[in-house]
Amino acid sequence: MSGMKITDSPWLTEQMARNILSVIQTSDSNKMRIPAPCAIRCQVVSQSLASMSGCDLDIEVGSIRWLPEQDVLVVHDYDWLEMYESHGGMDLDDFFVAYWRLIDGERKVVIMRSPNDYGEYSVFDYVEGDWYPTERVSAGTIEFPPVPTYPGLWPKRLSEAVRDGEIEYLGLPSTRMDPEDSVRRLYNRSDVRAALLNNVDSQTCVGANVNARSLDSDTNRRHRPVQLTTMESCIDTGAQGGCAEDIDAVTTEAHQIVQAIINDPDEAPIDAYLWETRFARILGTPFDPKRIRYDGHMTQIHNFRLRFAEEYMEMVRDFVNNHVAQNLDPRIHELGARYLSRGYDLMTYSRQALVGIQSNNKRRATADDWEAIHTYMLREIDKCGAESDRHDMMLGLLSACHKVPAASTGRVSDQLVMNPALFDPLMAALRYYGIAAHLFINDDGQIERRFTESWELPCTNCDDVGITVNPLEWQSFNARGRICPGCAG
Ligand SMILES: [Zn+2]
Repeated sequence: MSGMKITDSPWLTEQMARNILSVIQTSDSNKMRIPAPCAIRCQVVSQSLASMSGCDLDIEVGSIRWLPEQDVLVVHDYDWLEMYESHGGMDLDDFFVAYWRLIDGERKVVIMRSPNDYGEYSVFDYVEGDWYPTERVSAGTIEFPPVPTYPGLWPKRLSEAVRDGEIEYLGLPSTRMDPEDSVRRLYNRSDVRAALLNNVDSQTCVGANVNARSLDSDTNRRHRPVQLTTMESCIDTGAQGGCAEDIDAVTTEAHQIVQAIINDPDEAPIDAYLWETRFARILGTPFDPKRIRYDGHMTQIHNFRLRFAEEYMEMVRDFVNNHVAQNLDPRIHELGARYLSRGYDLMTYSRQALVGIQSNNKRRATADDWEAIHTYMLREIDKCGAESDRHDMMLGLLSACHKVPAASTGRVSDQLVMNPALFDPLMAALRYYGIAAHLFINDDGQIERRFTESWELPCTNCDDVGITVNPLEWQSFNARGRICPGCAG
């Protein structure tokens, strides 16, 4: 808007790139984030519900249709009932992730909810002509990426396993308790107190149970023949404030699942990523360390992700160093020359202060540390006196940042000036010399930008009022104490 671009600043360019990276990586590297191509998050509803909204679709059993009017996927009522167990007893408002895939040469749509337990997915035929998502990559556009089908890769779906009697659900304690305890009655103070007390436990019991089930799915790759209840019910116990007995049971089941894996007489290999990020901190490694496998799917995906993030940031830094850092408006270096040495001093002070903070305290600089540095810098800039001198100092500082890479990284960074404290003075300086634009709202309510293109030079010694379109001339006029070239001799 001001006539400047994000890519005029090395620091802002890098921060923007980092933001894009947050699709796969947060500051908590244990949080696995994997963007899946040709997949979307949407609701899946039954044909009956679609009809009720006035949308009649032809749907065959086994296929899934995209309903563009509602942006939802629709399945035959029969399939809706069939897939009930495979999606945690979904009702009609649940969101799924749908993947458009090529399986054995056929176009399919795979749906699942998140989180999901072993076998909680369904596969439908894609109907030709229906909408499907595509993904643009550097090599072109991909659609229906193929997925492998080797034996053992696709678990038996949960609803089929339940129907075949392969799983016994013991049931939550509340299902066997006196109905008095669970029947609806007036909510009183002790209910609130109990709910508050339960809250902490209930949140942790969900995480523990979901993590334990994930570890079991990944390690044993089979439906657990005896389960407390479905994963969905365990989650509801926590999320919807189940009774203490249920919360205990869900936590106990989590413990039992993990213990069974630890004590497994067959010593099944355990995925390194899952164990180290979810269990090792509390449990250590209470089994033969040789069981930790580093080639498991989860570990591989995690490593791919880290490597991609590293390579991507390397690419960004190259771009910043070879393009952004070289492309600073040359007028900034010209105008910054006047105060360049003081700009260097200020930059050196700040960088040394940061290094001091980090090495003395063995931590990264905090917001307070930065504020102290910024306050010092602003004070030094204020000391310059006249308005024009303060602007020159800002440009000297910006020029210095671009000329001297940070010693610790060897990279050009203008982080020192691209922060809320110094950004305003910087923009003021850039506007003062016509490098950045002034913004205003015109009579039509539109934002307009206007660059200062000429400067009046009223001499304080004689009556001469010169005019210049050259910001450097404007700078020397001010630096001379506002005296015309004639009077200056
Ligand atoms: Zn004069």
